[in-house]
Amino acid sequence: METSTVRTNGSITLQPSMVREVWKQELADAVRDPAELCDLLDLDPAIAQKSKDAGRDFMFLVPRGFISRMQPGDPNDPLLLQVLPRLEELDDIPGFVSDPVGEQPARRGTGLIQKYHGRCLLLVTGGCAVHCRYCFRREFPYAESGASPASFVAAVNEIRADESIHEVILSGGDPLLIDDALLETLIRDIDSISHVRRLRIHTRIPVVLPSRITEQLLHILDTTRLTACVVIHANHAAELDSIVAGSIRRMSHVVRILLNQAVLLRGVNDTAESLIQLSERLLDIGVTPYYLHLLDPVRGASDFDVPEEIGVRLIEELRNRLSGYAVPRLAREHPGSPSKTWLA
Ligand SMILES: *Cc1c(COP(=O)(O)O)cnc(C)c1O
Ligand code: SF4
Repeated sequence: METSTVRTNGSITLQPSMVREVWKQELADAVRDPAELCDLLDLDPAIAQKSKDAGRDFMFLVPRGFISRMQPGDPNDPLLLQVLPRLEELDDIPGFVSDPVGEQPARRGTGLIQKYHGRCLLLVTGGCAVHCRYCFRREFPYAESGASPASFVAAVNEIRADESIHEVILSGGDPLLIDDALLETLIRDIDSISHVRRLRIHTRIPVVLPSRITEQLLHILDTTRLTACVVIHANHAAELDSIVAGSIRRMSHVVRILLNQAVLLRGVNDTAESLIQLSERLLDIGVTPYYLHLLDPVRGASDFDVPEEIGVRLIEELRNRLSGYAVPRLAREHPGSPSKTWLA
């Protein structure tokens, strides 16, 4: 594996420490003002004004690379809809609540959440590289849940003490938002627990900030005893451009299992054609569709909701059109259930 240098733009050779700066710089340069986004995409400034009000509780944030995949002039662009706050977010809709999947009772302190047998979820950080308006953890109390590197030692001790845990899932927020150095220490510590066999990383970063897939990160994943599994999060084929495909290809050399989870979102991917294109594109770049989640009814996201019957019908259509392994499982989370519920 290459470890020391990486080429960018075909000419400049950077040292790893500088490479790390590239993604940090891109994150620092991410767009945080809806007016700037509307300007970049030639959209009506009135949209931005409404958006500013709507994003007051859950800040607007989107990296420029993701914006470059949106169609200028199209207020219904499926990537734009995922990130731009809309006034409807402020409506109080019955049934749309702060903790839609019952995570609060499953918190074990120290950033660990265990709801299902054999695997636990470790909330590594509350931060993300993009703010998705439909996010089910948009109101999650990260600060009081121990979702930070300060809790890693306690979390690892808890996992060590529970021999039933065979898989640790790094989640968040986005777990790849923390430094490689911190991640390396955490993964080495989990690696030292003999009953843990697999490390799973749930992350949207390979899609929204592909420069974050550094040589150092690949080296960490390549040298752990644990079987590495990465579950990315893309909802639309247009999210997966050639730069993303490149980051996935580099990961595929060290990650044994590469999956995608998507959320079924009204106006974004709620047609058979759109979901077929997503599956085809995922398989082109070496990622297997895993879950298509029905929206978790979190407050502020009701506008994205697609009824269950439509989801089931869409999956039936996919089954008639695609290879079996190209069809994701339609899943919903019921608070208190011993697994996610497969609807199709
Ligand atoms: C979704 C989830 C998992 C993983 O479930 P799989 O069906 O194994 O993908 C684990 N823990 C929690 C708390 C989850 O929400
Ligand atoms: S990247 Fe994931 S955790 Fe972060 S806002 Fe989007 S859906 Fe939520």
